Amino acid sequence: MTETHANSDRAVKTHNRDGRGGALIVCEHASRDIPEPYGTLGLTPELLRSHIAWDPGALAVARRLSTAFDAPLVAGGVSRLLFDCNRPPHAPDAIPERSEDHAVPGNQNLTDADRAKRVRDIHDVFRDGMVSALAGFAAPPILITVHSFTPVYLNRARRVQIGLLHDTDDRLARAMLACAPAHTGLSVALNDPYGPEHGVTHTLRQYALPAGSLNVMLEIRNDLIADATSQARMADMLIDWIAQSTASLNAPLTVRAGT
Ligand SMILES: [Zn+2]
Repeated sequence: MTETHANSDRAVKTHNRDGRGGALIVCEHASRDIPEPYGTLGLTPELLRSHIAWDPGALAVARRLSTAFDAPLVAGGVSRLLFDCNRPPHAPDAIPERSEDHAVPGNQNLTDADRAKRVRDIHDVFRDGMVSALAGFAAPPILITVHSFTPVYLNRARRVQIGLLHDTDDRLARAMLACAPAHTGLSVALNDPYGPEHGVTHTLRQYALPAGSLNVMLEIRNDLIADATSQARMADMLIDWIAQSTASLNAPLTVRAGT
């Protein structure tokens, strides 16, 4: 008999499940929700609203991409402070004891059983959501993950505005970089402000590289997607940009009429 978990309906949310475009959109850090019994993890309300808990603005952008490309969207349903679904279970920062320069009291001194419960209730549920979404495709889809990052990290301003992150398969990231000037005047760079050396390409490694499917992790500076208007504008720019980039790789994603 399958054990049921209190948070099993919380850790993953799939939108547009029946989308039949050639892409799967993923937004691991979509939510800052911290369900019971975790309380506040000992953090202030201000910190629980900040980028350490989630990727502000990313879900709205991801949803618009999902609609435009008629693509399913798999989104995390709880805060990455509980478990970071873009990390493997054994990663030291999957359940961060610190985030940026803030200690996370509720993640200190966890027992093996505590960690195993987080993995079961969050990592495994998110993974099952990914596997289920991928099973709906006849051929491996293009994988596009959507993230946002803070303009100032550890008191240092970040110059890059959109990061195109890749692991060993850089085809889509490089195709996007090549046609970036046709779509945006923003500062665009490969593997910036993070790269595979920071352990952030887990989802790409797990779900795209083995299948050989085109993939990219988009990192958008969160001050550029701070409200509904700018989120829509950013998403619409990315939609045209991704459409051209995938076409240049002979794997065009079609934009649904009316979006
Ligand atoms: Zn993120």
